[in-house]
Amino acid sequence: GRVKVLVSACLAGERCRFDGAACTCAGIDGIAEFAELVPICPEVLGGLPVPRKPSEILGSRVVTCDGADVTEAFQRGAERAVRRALGEGCRFAVLKERSPSCGSKAVYDGTFSSVLVQGSGFAAVALERAGIRVYGESDLAKLKKDIAAE
Ligand code: SF4
Repeated sequence: GRVKVLVSACLAGERCRFDGAACTCAGIDGIAEFAELVPICPEVLGGLPVPRKPSEILGSRVVTCDGADVTEAFQRGAERAVRRALGEGCRFAVLKERSPSCGSKAVYDGTFSSVLVQGSGFAAVALERAGIRVYGESDLAKLKKDIAAE
């Protein structure tokens, strides 16, 4: 069958973002032409509601903008994302950049002031540890090339 690609559900049009919106990602349709998309939202899988307070990674924890510690929900969501990816046989994932769950290159610094630092979200880290190759939505050309080279 076609290769399966795990995808952040908000990139696939689901309104699961913290503010109740989806993200726009025109390139996802191009991926869907040759791969089967498996949409997941780690934060929803972890038990968080939509909408919810924005969260950022602070050290080894995740906190909301009003100071609540939501680390456990993020850990649970990351574990469930890995289980889903492995269960579905996904070896690739396209994850929303800069998210404290899905970000894979840079995340916000925990001060809620739009400052980015190098680092990855909880789900991105867990998926990479499980051997899944993680791409951001700005990396779709590379993903396409890498799948073709398989
Ligand atoms: Fe999108 Fe990931 Fe945030 Fe869910 S956790 S809304 S899939 S970026």
